[in-house]
Amino acid sequence: MARYTCKWCGSSSRELLYLTNGRCSRNPHTKQHEPMNATEELSRYSCKWCGTSSSNPLSLTCGQCRNSPHPNKAHELLG
Ligand SMILES: [Zn+2]
Ligand SMILES: [Zn+2]
Repeated sequence: MARYTCKWCGSSSRELLYLTNGRCSRNPHTKQHEPMNATEELSRYSCKWCGTSSSNPLSLTCGQCRNSPHPNKAHELLG
């Protein structure tokens, strides 16, 4: 079954609309959740900028990214 995960904050939902209708506190561009391309639950999530990885997207995105080019230093999930 598909699962949509926000690449900025790690929130996930089985309903794409539920995810995209919500506000995202970590997306530096639109302030809305932005789903990853991957629509399956992954065994491991990693950050596009610093390479930090975790099996839990929520615990990965709550930290600060040392390599992020964005002012809010948010990790961005790869995939
Ligand atoms: Zn989000
Ligand atoms: Zn990062």
